[in-house]
Amino acid sequence: MNIKRERAHYLISSAVNELGQQFGYSNLIYWARENGINMDKLDDEIKELAREGLLRIFIDIRCPNCGAHIGSFNCLSEIPKRVTCSDCGKPWIRDEDLENSYELILTTTEEGRYFFRPTYYSRILFKIKRERRIEKSLRQIFERKRQL
Ligand SMILES: [Zn+2]
Repeated sequence: MNIKRERAHYLISSAVNELGQQFGYSNLIYWARENGINMDKLDDEIKELAREGLLRIFIDIRCPNCGAHIGSFNCLSEIPKRVTCSDCGKPWIRDEDLENSYELILTTTEEGRYFFRPTYYSRILFKIKRERRIEKSLRQIFERKRQL
């Protein structure tokens, strides 16, 4: 591992701290929106940390009909063209069903769990929360102003 920066430098550390060692990309988008964090920045971090072997990303597919787990894949090319759902028996067809049935899952690797351990609490998190509070109070001021 040749990672040069420490845990506190990554915004994603705060996400791991709040969302857990495994979470969906959709949850991350929601979390980023809630905290006023730029998703492009998080995407860059995810790529970097995946390259360093601290995060793993996989594609999770669920049956759009019954929600049963169809499979987990490391990349798009691994996904079969057609699968029959073992629960409801409906065929899952990649070209038609992929968009409505996949989620990107992020999970910390064994090394990642050590890297993201919350022993030194990120200062960045405090900074974000504080900025968010300011932003919120400003928004309330603006809204009040508009109602006058
Ligand atoms: Zn099914």
